[in-house]
Amino acid sequence: MTQIQQNLAAIKGQLPAGVELVAVSKFHPVEALLQAYEAGQRVFGESRAQELVVKFRQMPSDTRFHFIGHLQRNKVRVVVPCVSMIESVDSVSLLKLIDEEAGRAGRNVNVLLEVRVATEAAKTGFEVDALLSAAAGGELSGFGNVRICGLMAMASFTDDMEQVAREFDKARAAFLQLKHGVFHDCPEFCRLSMGMTDDWQVAVNHGSTMVRIGTAIFGSRQ
Ligand SMILES: *Cc1c(COP(=O)(O)O)cnc(C)c1O
Repeated sequence: MTQIQQNLAAIKGQLPAGVELVAVSKFHPVEALLQAYEAGQRVFGESRAQELVVKFRQMPSDTRFHFIGHLQRNKVRVVVPCVSMIESVDSVSLLKLIDEEAGRAGRNVNVLLEVRVATEAAKTGFEVDALLSAAAGGELSGFGNVRICGLMAMASFTDDMEQVAREFDKARAAFLQLKHGVFHDCPEFCRLSMGMTDDWQVAVNHGSTMVRIGTAIFGSRQ
């Protein structure tokens, strides 16, 4: 087993059943992804459009990519054909654009809405209140080519795991409110993507159903 395969096995051994693993492969070469692929990993996370397109072409056809970075409007068209999910939808206008481009491409695209729970100004995503009122106002429904599958959140970059836990709880509360409210007839609204290398155990203990782990699998990024 290679180091990457050992890392992957160690994480899979700790992940509770039912929690999906997205192997975040941004900045790592295709050879690294292939090692994970050979060990059975099929879902990879990428955050830059061009890098995603290149890797999409090079990886085996049953590889699935999640786009997890900030998605610029002019990149939606190239990203849509390459992804099984866009996790980082942070505005209604981006959602509309993805819906349009998915329609053009004859595809249905799974998306997560990114909710901002971290205190850092740099973090993106819907504010919780704005998200709930957009949902209540019907702004998140009626799309023919996107399937809203849940929420994604990132916690603050801090060693204070109690703060991280509070932020994950905030995302989970918003998720449950939407799931039991506006999305109660949408069984696909069932994913809560939270947790990275430094905080995924906390995330899982606070309701995450999908973790996005990069460094702990592939090592540090250049
Ligand atoms: C890079 C990234 C990750 C993975 O981060 P690690 O700390 O390397 O596990 C997860 N989610 C998002 C949105 C990222 O941009």
